Amino acid sequence: MAQQTPVILVTGGAQGIGKGIATYFLEKGWRVVVLDQDAEAIKACEQGFGNPDNLHLITMDVSCEGEVVTAVAEALRWGGRLDAVVNNAGIADPDNGPIESLELAQWQRRIDVNLTGAFLMAKHTVPHLRQSKGSIVNMASTRALQSEPNSEAYAASKGGLIALTHALAVSLGPDVRANSISPGWIDVRAWQTPAPSELEPLSASDHNQHPSGRVGTPADVAAMVAFLVSPGARFVTGQNFVVDGGMTRKMIYED
Ligand code: NAD
Repeated sequence: MAQQTPVILVTGGAQGIGKGIATYFLEKGWRVVVLDQDAEAIKACEQGFGNPDNLHLITMDVSCEGEVVTAVAEALRWGGRLDAVVNNAGIADPDNGPIESLELAQWQRRIDVNLTGAFLMAKHTVPHLRQSKGSIVNMASTRALQSEPNSEAYAASKGGLIALTHALAVSLGPDVRANSISPGWIDVRAWQTPAPSELEPLSASDHNQHPSGRVGTPADVAAMVAFLVSPGARFVTGQNFVVDGGMTRKMIYED
């Protein structure tokens, strides 16, 4: 019976947007595998996190191929099948400082985690996704489309992720679909480990500058993931979906 319950794997699922996605799918009755590098955050998930019977937690680094191979094998042993993979793990801080002082190792680490991690996860999960006619969702960013200063490594990694997504869609169709999501500002502070003792409320202007009237939440992103992995999205592949409350549609010329 458990074999028929769909299984979703979420990288970077122990905190932030990924934890929001894992929570959403647990609530919908899916079996969820969370992969994350942060052992403390994984430990926190062992306690208060949805339905523990439907949750499997693995500590690993998505940029290390050996750890990806081992984690995917463990996920398959536990879940018996794989229906969806969300490549969400990332170094989420976009600031790399001025390009003149950006060390090659810092550049490389962002590319390794944010982009190469998604390639490795796709490489090693595709045989299982083919069997289930499943799908991949890659977590890009609106920073793939527009920039603040000093964010070259992050922007390049997310732009690469959108390109990886359409390449995968064309290579893997019709068996496996691949799409990306580009979130804008998502308030993840309440989803961090350790949880902040006090949360400074966001300001009226933080919210009101969005055409949607508010800053985003992990649930807003999870809802898009849910659509993309659903049968309703069978005709949707290779696309990038911006979930940003409309911010990238605003004219930004100064008066
Ligand atoms: P977060 O830092 O709260 O969560 C990222 C998670 O990924 C953490 O749990 C972290 O431990 C894990 N992780 C980092 N490196 C890893 C590795 N090498 N292997 C395995 N796990 C690793 O960040 P978030 O804000 O929830 O961001 C999640 C994703 O969404 C990231 O890819 C980020 O770039 C993207 N994103 C976030 C926002 C936002 O406003 N929060 C906006 C656009 C895009």
